[in-house]
Amino acid sequence: MTLHSQNREKLENFGLSYEIIIKSPGRINLIGEHIDYNGGYVLPAAIDKTITLSFRKNNSDSCKIYSSNFKSSFEINLNNLKRSETEWQNYILGVVYHINIVKPNLVKGFDCIIESNLPLGSGISSSAALECGMAKGINELFNLGLTDIEIITVSKDAEHTFVGTKCGIMDQFAVVKGKKNHLILLNCKTLDYELIEANLAPYKIVLLNTNISHNLASSEYNIRRDECKIALKAIQMKYPNFNNLIEVKPKVVREFKKVLPEKIFNRALYVTKENRRTLRAVKFLKNNNLKEFGECLNRSHRGLRYLYEVSCQELDFLVDFSTNLDYVIGSRMMGGGFGGCTINLVHKSHIDEFIEKISGAYQEKFNIELTPIHVSISDGVTKI
Ligand code: ADP
Ligand code: MG
Repeated sequence: MTLHSQNREKLENFGLSYEIIIKSPGRINLIGEHIDYNGGYVLPAAIDKTITLSFRKNNSDSCKIYSSNFKSSFEINLNNLKRSETEWQNYILGVVYHINIVKPNLVKGFDCIIESNLPLGSGISSSAALECGMAKGINELFNLGLTDIEIITVSKDAEHTFVGTKCGIMDQFAVVKGKKNHLILLNCKTLDYELIEANLAPYKIVLLNTNISHNLASSEYNIRRDECKIALKAIQMKYPNFNNLIEVKPKVVREFKKVLPEKIFNRALYVTKENRRTLRAVKFLKNNNLKEFGECLNRSHRGLRYLYEVSCQELDFLVDFSTNLDYVIGSRMMGGGFGGCTINLVHKSHIDEFIEKISGAYQEKFNIELTPIHVSISDGVTKI
């Protein structure tokens, strides 16, 4: 018997069995990193690694939540919703709080068990999987009639307020709107999107987890967001018609090289280039020019490393190693940065060789085990 099923059995002994079971996926992002909060284009997809959340009503004014990953539970008093000192609880408290704003007084007491095979804090967005799975489950349990966009928005708002990470909309959008074998080309300003078939054969997506854990809430994420705002403000003084950094052409950003502090200039240059690179990459993908598509990923990494400065030595080592192999056509860090995973497009007949070589080199260099994660592109959050 697995630990998970032991936990479940223990909890089920308390009474009724669970009414609603939700599978909520993590996400990958092929290209368009740190672009969502700048209102640009991103290219994410939901994956087959998921958080499972089981719900039942408990006919009270409180909710009992158990995370089998943390082997820990807590109670929510629905009449007195407030932040917790324990970080993971805030993702859930925030979702309940924001649903209460959209649909006042309809959420009643419930029990929920959370089980997960998504690595936490690895840039695969376990946070959005948790938030959206929670929102979807509450929606189903109490028939709230929340739309997909409302589920996406309450989840994002939970992360902004209760957790304190000023994330963009991409993660929650991909977790909810993901479709098997498709990438989502999402305009993060208008939320218009196009589903694009993920025709990557003969290449497959392999993630490599550095096992260096970032912590977005307390890291540089919010600083980058502010730096982008500063850059936009300075550019708007001369060109007041720009509403978003991604609307500015790299050529125009370069006019500000001598005006902006170097860091701020570099952030702006990265953002405008990455947004254009994402659209270019999509064209290459649609034309089945996979080598050029992969090259866009490589360039994205260089931008994240040298201009946006959100990489770290472990990620750079993996990307350098991978881009030197002719059977890896694209490699870059994925997610917020400072650790987490790289995403790699690897020829299907060299995957074992790739993992063996790079794991050995990584172990030798950093004395840390590398965790490969094979992903396939799957549907978004689902009731099962
Ligand atoms: P990422 O979203 O890339 O995984 P974040 O730092 O944004 O990284 O979110 C990770 C956090 O989400 C964890 O530290 C924890 O607080 C919360 N979380 C994720 N999965 C679970 C889970 N199964 N149980 C409880 N909390 C979780
Ligand atoms: Mg996250």
